[in-house]
Amino acid sequence: MRPEKQTPQKRELVLATGNADKVREMNRSLSALGYIVTSQRDLGVEDAVEDGLSFIENSLIKARHASRITGLPSVADDSGITVDALGGAPGIYSARYADKNGDGNGDDQANNDLLLENMRDIPVADRGAQFVCVLSYVQHPDDPLPIIAQGVWRGSLLFEERGTEGFGYDPIFWVPTHKLASAELTPEVKRNISHRAQALDLLCKQLSEPA
Ligand code: IMP
Repeated sequence: MRPEKQTPQKRELVLATGNADKVREMNRSLSALGYIVTSQRDLGVEDAVEDGLSFIENSLIKARHASRITGLPSVADDSGITVDALGGAPGIYSARYADKNGDGNGDDQANNDLLLENMRDIPVADRGAQFVCVLSYVQHPDDPLPIIAQGVWRGSLLFEERGTEGFGYDPIFWVPTHKLASAELTPEVKRNISHRAQALDLLCKQLSEPA
């Protein structure tokens, strides 16, 4: 059981992401629990340097950073795709897998092209992959007992893009339960089953436990 959470009267929270879609999604669930949620961008917080080696480490780095700058409890998200045949790559480097300029930026199309190319000779049976999302909650910057919630969404990699919904690797990720690419799912369906949905669900359950 966690020590001391904020009292129900005072439950401000900063979200350590500037991504408007993530803010909206997380805001909906967290405000239902009574939290007043603000994005770090709205509080003028610069992005943290993500130099961890795992989704968990990077998620915690972001949460601690936002909490340190704002003085508020914080929730951060780190996510990406791991491919079995590539030993887990692109993993934490998913956003910048095809970073040609070395400036830390990749773009979705270049990332997908490179991943399909690297998987070109891998047969269907060995194309397993998963989206991963880790959400971290810290009560304060040095919180020794953060809440960590992890969501994993299993599927496999297609040989070519399908669908127009979503973002990132959605067009090349096959969702076996729905027999569709992730980019062919409606946003509502994806919101209910994705790695982020699973992690958010777990986080909200833990946040609602009595302190
Ligand atoms: P970040 O957590 O926003 O840094 O996301 C890391 C990268 O993982 C993104 O740039 C996407 O390429 C990929 N990613 C994370 N979640 C998803 C998803 O739901 N669909 C497609 N790509 C995703």
